[in-house]
Amino acid sequence: MPPLHLDPEQRFTCQQCGRCCRRGWDIALTAGEVKTYRQARAERYYREREDSPEGAETDPFDPLPGGYARIRKRADGACGFLSPENRCRIHEELGAERKPLTCRLFPFRFHPAEGAAVLTASFCCPTVVRNTGARLDAQPREIATLRKAWTHAFPERELEVELVKGRRLAADALATLRQVLREMLDRPGPRGRPDLQANVLRMARYVEDISRHRVMRLPPPRFAEYLELTGRYAAKSEQPLPARPASALGRLLSRGFLFAVVAAREQLEDPRPSGLRLDLRWRLARLLAHAHGAGPGLPALDLAAAGRVRFDANDPEIHGLAWNYLRAALQTLGTGRRPVLEELAVAVAFLNAAGVLAAQRAGRAGRSTVDADAFAEGLMEAVDLTHADSGGLLGRLLGTLSGGVEALYLFAGGEGKG
Ligand code: SF4
Ligand code: SF4
Repeated sequence: MPPLHLDPEQRFTCQQCGRCCRRGWDIALTAGEVKTYRQARAERYYREREDSPEGAETDPFDPLPGGYARIRKRADGACGFLSPENRCRIHEELGAERKPLTCRLFPFRFHPAEGAAVLTASFCCPTVVRNTGARLDAQPREIATLRKAWTHAFPERELEVELVKGRRLAADALATLRQVLREMLDRPGPRGRPDLQANVLRMARYVEDISRHRVMRLPPPRFAEYLELTGRYAAKSEQPLPARPASALGRLLSRGFLFAVVAAREQLEDPRPSGLRLDLRWRLARLLAHAHGAGPGLPALDLAAAGRVRFDANDPEIHGLAWNYLRAALQTLGTGRRPVLEELAVAVAFLNAAGVLAAQRAGRAGRSTVDADAFAEGLMEAVDLTHADSGGLLGRLLGTLSGGVEALYLFAGGEGKG
C-alpha cells in the first residue's frame, strides 16, 4: 500500500455528540453490512421518528447501484438508528465493530493520490473544527485499520490532480504549492500572529500570477520551477501589497454561493420527496426570486439579522478557528476532486459563507457580536454542503459560484461576512 500523507497538526477524538448522525447525509453500506444487519434483524432498532417506538415500518435499507445500500432517514432527516439518548443502536446492540464502516470512518476520508494516499478530516465535526483531541499522527494503528477496511470495501481509483482544468499538476509541484501557500498563511502580522486577511491577499496575488496564460504554457519542469521561485519570494517579501477590492461579479457570485449553502442546508433539514436535485433547484429559484424582490425567502436565510451583528475576524478565538481551517485546507490541497486553484477558492468561499451564517446565528439570538461558538457552528453549517451533494448539481455549481480568486479577495477585504 502506498504511504499515507496525513496532517500532523490536526487533532481528532470523537466526543460522541451525534452531529454526524443528524445531518441527513447518506450512510453508505456494503452488501456484506446489509446482509449482517438483516441476519441480526437490525430493523428492530430503527425509528421512523425521534419519538416513535423502535421497529421499522418499511425496509430501512435503500438499495444503491453497485450492490451498495444506504440507511433510510428518519422523518427529521437524522439516521433512524440514532436513539433519543444520542446513541447508535447498531453499536449498542451489535457492537462497535459492526457499526457501518462509513460511520466508523467519519470524519476521515482516504484519497488515493499519486505515490501516496491522503487522509482528510471533515470540518463538519466539531472536534476537527476546534482541533481538540489526539493528533492524527498519534493514531497510526486505528487509522491503518480503517484505511485497510475502506480500501477493501470502497475501492477508488487514483485521480489525476489538475491546477486548473486541463493543466495537470505533478505530485512534487503540488507539494511545493502546498508549502509556499502555507508559508504565506503563517507570515506574522503586526500583532505577532498571522494576519489572515493580509496573508490571503498575498495568496490571491500569487494565484493570479501563476494562472496567467504565459505561465500556464510553460513546460512542466519550468512551470514547477516558476511555482517554487515566485512562491518562496512572495512568501518572504517584505514589500507591502496594495489592496484590491473584489470585483462586482465576485460579490454577486459570493451571494449565489451563500444561497447554495443555505438551500442545501434547508434541504437537509426539511427533505422533500421530489429528490435532492429538484428540491435544490426549487429552493435556489426561490432564493433568487427573493433577492429580486419577487417572492418570499427561505427561513434559513436572514441577512437582516446577520447585518446587525459585528464580526471581528481578529478576535483571538475566531482567528484560531479560521487559521486552523485554512491551514488544513492547504495541507490537504489536491483532494477536493476539482482543480486545485478552484479547490482553494471553494475552501475560502466556505469561510466567507461561515461568517454570514455565524452572524445570522448571533443576530437571531439577540447578540451584537459573533463569538467563537457561533463561528464554529457557521463553519460546520457551511461545510456540511460538501457532504450533501458534492458530486452532483451543487458540487459542480460551487466551483463557479466561488468566483475563483475573487473569493480570496473578498476574504482579504474583510467582506466575507456578506
Ligand atoms: S460529529 Fe465528530 S465528535 Fe460528533 S459524533 Fe460525529 S465524529 Fe464524533
Ligand atoms: S448507523 Fe449509527 S453511527 Fe451511523 S449514522 Fe446511524 S446512528 Fe449514527
